[in-house]
Amino acid sequence: MQKQTDVLIIGGGFGGVGAAQKLSKNGVSVTLVDRKNYFEVTFATLRDVTDPGRLGNSPRKLYSDFIDGTFIQGSIESMNDKEAKLTNGLSIRFKQAIIASGSRYPSLPLAKSNSAFDYSERNQEIMNEHKSIASAKSILVIGGGAVGVEFAGEIASAFPDKDITLAHSTDTLLDNMKPKVQRKALEQLTAKGVNVKFNRRFTKDGNVYRCSKSQESLQVDIAYACVGMLPNTEFLKAELPGILDDKGFVKVDSLMKVQGYENLYALGDCATLDNHKHGYVASVQGAMLADALLRSAKGKKIKPYKTPPFAVITPTGTDSGVAQMPFGVTTAKFFVNLKQKDLGISNMYKIYGSKPDKLN
Ligand SMILES: Cc1cc2nc3c(=O)[nH]c(=O)nc-3n(C[C@H](O)[C@H](O)[C@H](O)COP(=O)(O)OP(=O)(O)OC[C@H]3O[C@@H](n4cnc5c(N)ncnc54)[C@H](O)[C@@H]3O)c2cc1C
Repeated sequence: MQKQTDVLIIGGGFGGVGAAQKLSKNGVSVTLVDRKNYFEVTFATLRDVTDPGRLGNSPRKLYSDFIDGTFIQGSIESMNDKEAKLTNGLSIRFKQAIIASGSRYPSLPLAKSNSAFDYSERNQEIMNEHKSIASAKSILVIGGGAVGVEFAGEIASAFPDKDITLAHSTDTLLDNMKPKVQRKALEQLTAKGVNVKFNRRFTKDGNVYRCSKSQESLQVDIAYACVGMLPNTEFLKAELPGILDDKGFVKVDSLMKVQGYENLYALGDCATLDNHKHGYVASVQGAMLADALLRSAKGKKIKPYKTPPFAVITPTGTDSGVAQMPFGVTTAKFFVNLKQKDLGISNMYKIYGSKPDKLN
């Protein structure tokens, strides 16, 4: 079967939805394709999995309940500059395409599900993971980046009696953040009883986790490796291999145009546009690209992309956190709560002209 659209958007994450909503609201014929049938605010996943009673299903919403253009659930298996083919046999011809297929966390699949593509399956997946965490006495979190720090803090908040170790390969948490952020995060986690071990690389060896450098071995009930993301761009390799860099990111210019093509664009976690791989940044990029396409259709000038001012707020549990704001670093509740309170769920849905689902 074949379909036709003016703008095809591949991936309904923060960037894809940002672009889809703005274009549709301005009368452009848009088709959004995602392998899932729901949007999810990933910022909330770690709290959802540790304490599902607080957020329930509210991070997730069916695309069909809020997307203004056409939504098709399906997985793109290949594309060129004229059409995209889905694994179910459908092919979609387009005038312009926006590649917004984002990233995955192979070491921590619960962060962005690789298998639960249905809304209720994902709710169940979160509940199942919660049960495993709840029944464990000892938990090892490997990786002291933003995801590992947040996860250790959320587990410690929800389960103060568990034995939690956070192991990191260097001698500071949150390597790319300011020193004050690194110090505050360490203080806050330590105050919650998290045992932070620096300069350790634990790997699984049977039932035990071993660090060859420190000669330590740890026996834990569960371990979560929070060590890095990969771009979801495999579907481009067959017909558009030249648009990928050596790490698999789509090469774009400062107008988000894919190098060598006039009608292909890419943004968010899967593109080379910005080193800041954040959902908020991706949503701004989506809205900016939509704006640029609308302007260029009217023959107006387009400004190149610049990283928007943004805050990086790292909760270290439900009652603490540290915010790296454009003006400095703070642990003041007012700023930390910008993310801490509902983990950005209401704000993101508001940006997309919607509201979170009622908690159930
Ligand atoms: C635990 C955690 C906490 C985070 N906290 C924050 C935070 O507080 N603030 C912040 O700004 N960022 C945060 N991030 C980062 C943020 O989640 C990412 O930067 C963001 O998801 C990137 O958005 P995106 O639109 O580029 O892609 P994604 O959100 O990855 O969306 C891509 C979409 O494309 C779909 N897709 C992929 N391949 C295909 C295909 N072949 N066919 C069809 N569909 C496909 C996927 O199903 C997915 O829905 C966090 C990430 C994690 C894991």
